Amino acid sequence: MKYALVTGASRGLGRAIALRLAKDGFSVIINYNRSDDAAREVLEEIVLEGGSGELMRFDVSDSAAVDAAIEGWETAHPDDYISVLVNNAGIRQDNILVFMTDEQWHSVLNTTLDGFFYLTRRVVKGMMTHRNGRIVNISSVSGLKGMPGQCNYSAAKAGIIGVSKALAQEVAKRKVTVNVVAPGFIETDMTQDIPIDEIKRIVPLGRIGKPDEVAALVSFLASDESAYITGEVISINGGVM
Ligand code: NAP
Repeated sequence: MKYALVTGASRGLGRAIALRLAKDGFSVIINYNRSDDAAREVLEEIVLEGGSGELMRFDVSDSAAVDAAIEGWETAHPDDYISVLVNNAGIRQDNILVFMTDEQWHSVLNTTLDGFFYLTRRVVKGMMTHRNGRIVNISSVSGLKGMPGQCNYSAAKAGIIGVSKALAQEVAKRKVTVNVVAPGFIETDMTQDIPIDEIKRIVPLGRIGKPDEVAALVSFLASDESAYITGEVISINGGVM
């Protein structure tokens, strides 16, 4: 059995990625923070479609909680390792910089960057030992071009690109790849306050993206077919930039 861990898999992009990786044959570890019912529904859907998975609740920005969760999993699976890690969990706390609070700044950076660090340093060990692994990190168009009102989010999402490129070079010899997916506007809870008409005007392809479209790209980057791609950032944004 091959295992894939997806953070923030109770809703939105993470949910679609978890369902897709289950279809690809992975046993999916569904991480989430608060949405118990939604996470359970994702697992139920996976099982209903003949796949397998398990829930793993922890806050990615809590170092001790991450360690405890991964240690627990490794104890329960002494002969297995997680070969695919999708760092997807993320939040928005928009404000213009002059009014941004410490809490808004730190909560966004902690979830994206601390979350990446605490979890990846644990999970990558097993990949390196087994000389096989795929790490896919979810950034954003905001991390590539910067977005006004999102200095915290743009910093976090640009940071994830830098750290992915550095880590890709550290682990390449062990046949572990590290890539970034940078979505534009995708239809999830996170974008429900964005006016659709405005998006249609801004996006050359004239529509908002679907979570399944992002999941298909992650699926490819998690597969054997992407073995020669590492340290890359792939945008999926309908032509915005
Ligand atoms: P979403 O619908 O708001 O879902 C966010 C997910 O992250 C939920 O499953 C949530 O779990 C989880 N999460 C949040 N904080 C967490 C924490 N501290 N620990 C563990 N899980 C946590 O967001 P989304 O639109 O799917 O976004 C997913 C990723 O794509 C994010 O990194 C986001 O920045 C990025 N992105 C999204 C878009 C877009 O247009 N939607 C565009 C570019 C990039 P609980 O509900 O259980 O707390």
